[in-house]
Amino acid sequence: MTQHTDVVVIGGGQSGLAAGYHLRRLGLDFVVLDAQATPGGAWQHTWDSLRLFSPAAYSSLPGRLMPPQADETYPDAAHVVAYLTDYEQRYDLPVHRPVRVTGVHRDGELLRVESDAGTWQARAVVSATGTWSRPFLPAVPGRTEFRGRQLHTVEYRGPKDFTGERVVVVGGGNSGAQIAADLAYDADLTWVTLREPRYLADDIDGRALFDHASARRRALDEGRTANGGVASLGDIVAVPPVRAARDAGFLKAQPMFDRITPTGVTWADGMTAEADAIIWCTGFRPALAHLAPLGVRGPRGHIPTDGTRAVAEPRLHLLGYGDWTGPASATLIGVGRPAREAARAIADLLR
Ligand code: FAD
Repeated sequence: MTQHTDVVVIGGGQSGLAAGYHLRRLGLDFVVLDAQATPGGAWQHTWDSLRLFSPAAYSSLPGRLMPPQADETYPDAAHVVAYLTDYEQRYDLPVHRPVRVTGVHRDGELLRVESDAGTWQARAVVSATGTWSRPFLPAVPGRTEFRGRQLHTVEYRGPKDFTGERVVVVGGGNSGAQIAADLAYDADLTWVTLREPRYLADDIDGRALFDHASARRRALDEGRTANGGVASLGDIVAVPPVRAARDAGFLKAQPMFDRITPTGVTWADGMTAEADAIIWCTGFRPALAHLAPLGVRGPRGHIPTDGTRAVAEPRLHLLGYGDWTGPASATLIGVGRPAREAARAIADLLR
């Protein structure tokens, strides 16, 4: 049986909920389809010690401030899950789960959304499926020969799984730095980064990143020369555990190795590091396979957008994923504005 609605939002993480909040305010009829069995999006699957890089109030979706977490300036992932769970109940967002969307198709005037739990016809679609389900691992010679454990950020849970082991952590972003800091005390750690780690100043956290992204956004809106984006400030927010491990001298990074052997990694100059495990903190790609039937994909796997709207399909909006759908749109506080713009554009389209 096919169900009908004005808008289908695909993905019930923070981006999908922010879209839902604004669609509700505009009085549109919509559903949110989420593949997870429970609320919280990707935050349900992160490692135990992960800390947000901003205080709670600076990690809020539209309409409702995230409450502070007792005794923690930087909340953990469980706190975010609790916040998102409360958020969707508070605004009575119509989230259906678990529902995995398998394909979005053009169907005359409508878009047809097919899923493992039935079909919806809608006048517009918001895709907010995140990146967590598409971990990225770089091609490095010898990777398949390694006899130890290899895992990606998405599979890391905590240091107790590596006590006393020789562990190579690859990646100079926040995940790499936080996981390296997490392992520094219990494992024999080798931290490898593509370039020298770039810490933000210790007194800068996600608040400044957001302010920077907002200034960039204003400049772009007004046709002025924009600042260099948040990446120009540095790659790693020195949250307290990272700062402590760095200051204790545990976070000395090695340059990227050239080859993986059955028992470790080697550099061109002959240096080697034996390893029981390699943890790849090497990022993600957007989860966009469900949009393949629309044929809207551009170069580098992205979908060309004008704001959040897909250039080749005006009934489709993309939210979250990365800066290419709006400055800071893949953050809790940053997704509110592009979500509002997407909802307004959809309301105009349907009028
Ligand atoms: P997700 O949370 O991934 O939600 C997408 C949802 O869509 C999921 O529930 C998924 O199951 C579902 N889905 C996927 N495919 C389908 C499909 N085909 N059909 C139906 N449902 C589907 N941001 C901050 O603001 N502060 C931080 O401190 C911060 N730290 C971070 C640390 C790490 C390690 C990472 C990886 C990210 C961090 N971020 C942080 C960035 C960002 O907030 C998260 O990536 C966030 O989870 C993105 O939200 P989302 O809703 O776009 O995607």
